[in-house]
Amino acid sequence: MATEPIVIEAIINGEKHKAEKQAPRENPAHPDEIVGYAPLNTKEETIQAIDAADQAFTEWRDTSFDDRINRMRRAIQKIKDKTPEIAELLAREHGKALYDAKGEIAVSLMWMEFACDNIAEVLKDELHEHDGGKTIIARDAIGVISAISPWNYPISLSTIKIAPALLAGNTMVLKPSPLAPLAVSKVTELIANEFPPGVLNLVHGEAEVGVELTSNPKVAKIAFTGGTETAKHIMKAAADTIKHMTLELGGNDAAIVLDDFDVNDEKAMRRLVVSNFLTAGQICMIAKRVYVHESIYDTFIEKYREAADKWIRVGDPFDKNVTVGAVNNKKQIEFVQSLIDDSKQKGAEVIKLGKIVDENLFKQGYFMQPTLVLGADYDDPIVEQEQFGPAVPILPFKDDEHAIHLANKSIFGLTSSVWGKQEHAVKVAKRIQAGTTMINTAAVQGLDVRFPFGGVKQSGIGREYGKEGILAYAETHVINMPKTLDLPYIPE
Ligand code: NAD
Repeated sequence: MATEPIVIEAIINGEKHKAEKQAPRENPAHPDEIVGYAPLNTKEETIQAIDAADQAFTEWRDTSFDDRINRMRRAIQKIKDKTPEIAELLAREHGKALYDAKGEIAVSLMWMEFACDNIAEVLKDELHEHDGGKTIIARDAIGVISAISPWNYPISLSTIKIAPALLAGNTMVLKPSPLAPLAVSKVTELIANEFPPGVLNLVHGEAEVGVELTSNPKVAKIAFTGGTETAKHIMKAAADTIKHMTLELGGNDAAIVLDDFDVNDEKAMRRLVVSNFLTAGQICMIAKRVYVHESIYDTFIEKYREAADKWIRVGDPFDKNVTVGAVNNKKQIEFVQSLIDDSKQKGAEVIKLGKIVDENLFKQGYFMQPTLVLGADYDDPIVEQEQFGPAVPILPFKDDEHAIHLANKSIFGLTSSVWGKQEHAVKVAKRIQAGTTMINTAAVQGLDVRFPFGGVKQSGIGREYGKEGILAYAETHVINMPKTLDLPYIPE
């Protein structure tokens, strides 16, 4: 169902800005089809966008919560009205199944609503009266925020930043990923149209734009979601001007299946399969390595394969029967395949899972059949690195101590999950180093926008979602009115 390619433009100071160069975005399921074009903005255009955000800041920060919330709620309604066409565009440029694209928009809206409902309460002045004096803890806007988002969940990982930032009185320049730039730009335009010029700006491009966004002295905070290696460049670029930062980075999330997990619980088994292969495994918080207690390992593998073969149907994102769409880009397939090949060559068993719905399409597009890797070494790259694609290693462990050690020996610590009897699972969960640990579920199935989300170790700094995801866009400002200014230890 190819349609005319759409053309996206940057938004600077409330106006569409025509760039000299544009980059095509193909449909990963049908790579011959160009879905649209996004601009390749320059350093100068990025500076213009930052200047516009900087100029808009002074007036915007003095607006009331009511004004900001009303504008955001109007934008939410516009996104709701246009969800069917935005979801189709997202599925076509990204490769994810249509139901998955709709789910991403639904989660984005949920968060935007939460931010509207809670902003005034979370950021209101706190008044403390003490010993005859008074202290106000105010939550000021920070300034110009540079938001940089990745390709895997472009809409939710952009709105997760836009909503609290603007509601808290900041202004923003957003740069989405060139690998899924179109649908998120449509959403950004709908939001930007409801706000004064310069409050929300949009630029596109590669590292040149990213470097300006992360080093320009007028930028007060960077809100970044993406890879850990990119984050290291960003921290260096931002060092000269000491910027605030929220970094949501890669993960290598462990799923621990305890000896008291019921292998005959088909629903739980399906949840585990989904948490390995939803969005073809291209989610930061997907369960990327599974450790199973050795006493149930053989039966577990048998039941897991049954559940996986039943749920996984790889094919066209628009086919209603399909559960796993295309991989977003060829480079990602090559990387995941290299990890599988490495383990296979060392003696691991490689098992293909599920059904391919249309063999011809599968050969033409960027498709990859979900793959199980058994018998890999605990230190193999497929176990230690973030594969970010449809392949998962399953390995046995001896006892809880061993499982906890395996989960924690990673440089990452985003999410994790423990599967088994609740009390036992919680005991194990408490000892895992991660921002979130889910019990008997994992990945987006256990996500709740009301609670903070983020990583420990090299999976990131700071939190998004929940009240902490709002406070991340405010500067704490203490206004002190002590009863007496005379301190007893200062001589007359
Ligand atoms: P990436 O780091 O390659 O790119 C992310 C963004 O950074 C893109 O917009 C890119 O153009 C931009 N960028 C690249 N170089 C830059 C530079 N030098 N300065 C500034 N910006 C620059 O990541 P990706 O491949 O788009 O996304 C996949 C990664 O993101 C995975 O590691 C995944 O785990 C991670 N991720 C994390 C979360 C989370 O919440 N923790 C969520 C989704 C994805």
